[in-house]
Amino acid sequence: MPIVRVALDVPLSTLFDYTVAEGIAVAIGQRVTVPFGRRQMAGVVMEVVAASDMAPERIKPVKQVLHDSAPLSAELLALLRFCSDYYRYPIGQTVLSALPARLRSDKPVIGKPVLSYRLSASGAALDLDAFPKRKVVQRRILAKLTEQPCNLAQLKSLSATAGAQLKVLVAEGWVEGFAGTQNIRNPVRAELVEANSCPSTGSGRTVSSIQEHSFDNAHILTGEQQRAVDAITQTSGYACFLLHGITGSGKTEVYVHLMHHMLQRGGQVLLLVPEINLTPQLENYFRSRFPDVNLVSLHSGLSEGERLHNWQQAQSGTAQIVLGTRLAVFAELPRLALIIVDEEHDGSFKQQDGLRYSARDVAIFRASQRGVAIVLGSATPSLESYHNAQSGRYRMLRLTGRALAEARLPAVRCININQTVMHHGISENLLREIGQRIARKEQSLLFINRRGYAPVLMCTGCGWLSGCKHCAGKMVLHLNEQRLRCHHCGYQIRVPSACPSCGNADLLPVGSGTQRVESVLQERFPEARILRVDRDSTRNKRAWQTMREQIHANEVDILVGTQMLAKGHDFPALTLVGVLNPDSALYSSDFRAAEKLFAQLVQVAGRAGRADKPGEVLVQTAFPDHPLFRALQAHDFEGWAEAQLAERKMAGFPPFVYQAMLRVEGRQEEAVYAFLNQARDAAVALQHAVEILGVVPAALPRRANHIRAQLLIQGAKRKDLQQFLRAWQPLLDVLPAQKLRWSLDIDPLEF
Ligand code: ADP
Ligand code: ZN
Ligand code: ZN
Repeated sequence: MPIVRVALDVPLSTLFDYTVAEGIAVAIGQRVTVPFGRRQMAGVVMEVVAASDMAPERIKPVKQVLHDSAPLSAELLALLRFCSDYYRYPIGQTVLSALPARLRSDKPVIGKPVLSYRLSASGAALDLDAFPKRKVVQRRILAKLTEQPCNLAQLKSLSATAGAQLKVLVAEGWVEGFAGTQNIRNPVRAELVEANSCPSTGSGRTVSSIQEHSFDNAHILTGEQQRAVDAITQTSGYACFLLHGITGSGKTEVYVHLMHHMLQRGGQVLLLVPEINLTPQLENYFRSRFPDVNLVSLHSGLSEGERLHNWQQAQSGTAQIVLGTRLAVFAELPRLALIIVDEEHDGSFKQQDGLRYSARDVAIFRASQRGVAIVLGSATPSLESYHNAQSGRYRMLRLTGRALAEARLPAVRCININQTVMHHGISENLLREIGQRIARKEQSLLFINRRGYAPVLMCTGCGWLSGCKHCAGKMVLHLNEQRLRCHHCGYQIRVPSACPSCGNADLLPVGSGTQRVESVLQERFPEARILRVDRDSTRNKRAWQTMREQIHANEVDILVGTQMLAKGHDFPALTLVGVLNPDSALYSSDFRAAEKLFAQLVQVAGRAGRADKPGEVLVQTAFPDHPLFRALQAHDFEGWAEAQLAERKMAGFPPFVYQAMLRVEGRQEEAVYAFLNQARDAAVALQHAVEILGVVPAALPRRANHIRAQLLIQGAKRKDLQQFLRAWQPLLDVLPAQKLRWSLDIDPLEF
């Protein structure tokens, strides 16, 4: 009896063996339900083998082979195996977490009504001559389906018992029903069979006949855009391109032309975008550019049913463009021809729990596995990618001018907050500029990365600060709701009328958040229409959509918002951007804080003056001569990046080293540190070529009553670090960890 090795959603780094009854067709990549302990679980067949290491009587049989969805391709399984190994995450949890929720369940997917039948992957691979001669009707059905998919009526015409025999074939997995009509040539099978036969070389990719589709060819490309398109379309096989283009340089237009090129050759394109509520707009935009192309999206905002449907469209090859957030990097794409990662520097490509993958990095691996091109686009590339382009691992493509001749980059100026009159965090100069914009019927945007009214409430008598009783952080004052709220754990209380420590009634909000800025502006410009955009004001799904419409209809004079406003929006009437409180990033303990701030400021500055009106950016800072602001004023990403890289090299930070972080949290401080110290001792004893740093408290040492601490490991080479982690993790798995939660984070972004 064949044994299948199944990936299950359990936190163990192993596959589980089950038997399959004789005569049941089961293929690698197929979903099965199996008994596990007292439960029944869904899993994915990773291997089919002749024998198991387990005693035969202990191996249980597979309960059911699910034929509701085509098997996962060998290519996707290889990608998931790579992720499991690289990110040190159990194989079963890796495989299952990549699937849409519906496919993780042990219930068969109830899809669309079955209209037609076709051979399954195993059926297509079947040698009909070897099929038992006595099963006459089954043989007739199989022979007929070899020619083409058929509907039930057509099959019933073969024999009086064809209906019953068809059921047997479906149950055994040789034939499957689907929701199409028999006239549709089914691309899934051919593709999957090919992909299975040649998993990693990319030769399973078929370039089918030229596909005509209409393409809204909106612009004649600029010279730089054309050179970028040519460079990418003229390569064959794997290549990674860094498309570094200033905001407004027309990166999107380059993507559109690349897509057109790939679609015409019958390929599928995967476009990954950051996790923001912009996906629907992007989707509409690309739909309008490719009106009769099948485009599907994959992101966390979809319902389970939609997500499954879109995933299956990608899997069957019917979706030509797949637009999605990080999770889309695991979509099945039998005809994948190109991957684009837009805003590749964005932190949201990194998953922060479970399988802590970087979708950008997985996408690069996937492109090399498949032998196709990948394009990383950004106005402010991550220093990792920039360094790789400098060193020749990636190919740099630059767009240095704005696509629209009349659009100029905004002028950036600093306002020294120590040399001007300040009104609760807003300088007099900035208020004056806003006043002028209102008079000219133009819009202003004030950018502040803090929601709420003030980050902390202080007692003027004894110095008490509004700390959270469950965390090491402070509770944020939300004056509108009369609440103090912890943004780390969600704990909230009413604003106290007097100091809880000394009884003094004089409590002072310290610092500014979006609500306070809004109220300062209201006081100064009572007639102005002010709109606050942050997570609090956009909690409701429709709210943000309505707000955008208001902004476009010019029903808003001043926008106050957090980073939500920085990304990708095009507001033609916006001519002034004020940046309120950027300085804390300049002296942060996170070595990436400055890199993130620069990217954010370039992005928010890019909102100003996109149409024919020139834009202006005013940055309020105590350090107007800081190199970061100088580079921002000069629009000099290169100079800034070179200087940052030189600093990183001296300090021994990424991209010059590779890092892994062991994080531990638990209620008992001693237990947390004991675990980390033992982990560290075990690491040292391994004597690998890696640097093992000290055990230290996390940036937020206590959250929701859990003590948090961490240990950083660095290697000069990725390979050294990987070898070390493979040896270290099994030792961690057996350390006593009662009531502790620990995780390994490879290439961590948060510290
Ligand atoms: P980016 O994504 O680099 O910020 P966009 O792709 O949004 O830039 O392009 C900025 C603006 O320039 C858009 O309005 C776009 O329609 C326009 N544009 C892009 N390429 C061209 C071109 N070749 N000719 C004319 N306009 C263009
Ligand atoms: Zn007090
Ligand atoms: Zn808290």
